[in-house]
Amino acid sequence: MPAPAEPSASPESPAPAPAATLLTLDLTATIRHDGHGGVADDLDTPDGLTAWVRAHAAALPGALAARRFRADESALEAVRGVRAAVRALFARAVRPGEPSPADARRLLPLGQALTRLNEAAARVPTVPVLSWPRGAAPVVRDEPVVPAGAVERADLLNAALARAALTFLAGPDRERLRACHAPRCVRYFLKDHPRQEWCKPVCGNRARVARHHDRSRGRG
Ligand SMILES: [Zn+2]
Repeated sequence: MPAPAEPSASPESPAPAPAATLLTLDLTATIRHDGHGGVADDLDTPDGLTAWVRAHAAALPGALAARRFRADESALEAVRGVRAAVRALFARAVRPGEPSPADARRLLPLGQALTRLNEAAARVPTVPVLSWPRGAAPVVRDEPVVPAGAVERADLLNAALARAALTFLAGPDRERLRACHAPRCVRYFLKDHPRQEWCKPVCGNRARVARHHDRSRGRG
């Protein structure tokens, strides 16, 4: 008799998200809950951007030399502009759900958001380049057509971020995008299973505590 199949109690975990999805979500997640009921911004100084770029070096074009990247004010402003465009389009993507409360009242108009992303992506024409490291899966990355040094590194960075966002927004992962509405949370996240309501279990716990608190007060 064949052995019984493994019980399928746990939902199948989805395949890991592609690099463009992860990079785009990480960019938007630089606006986050500060742990004290407010909103923090990891990209509020050039040093903040320098740290973020270095931490995401593997997902950025080799020509950027991200591990040695050092941001200045103009690079910071440009990245924040791309991020604002992405967050405005995220707000559209989660409809009819509500957008993240962090910037729901000051979203860029959709036309401006689209133009800004398309223009940022167009500043650096690219070609796909395949690499296949020993012992790892092959990866394809967009590398600039223009020679290194012929283009501003801030443009390289913003073009890469914008292209990742375009890929994500036009791809299948967009349909799983949600804003977390647990108390204080401002994150966008990808819904991994049909009943998922919160970005992380800790947010679910906080939301349940708040509901319980509201109900108790309603009775009192
Ligand atoms: Zn959350």
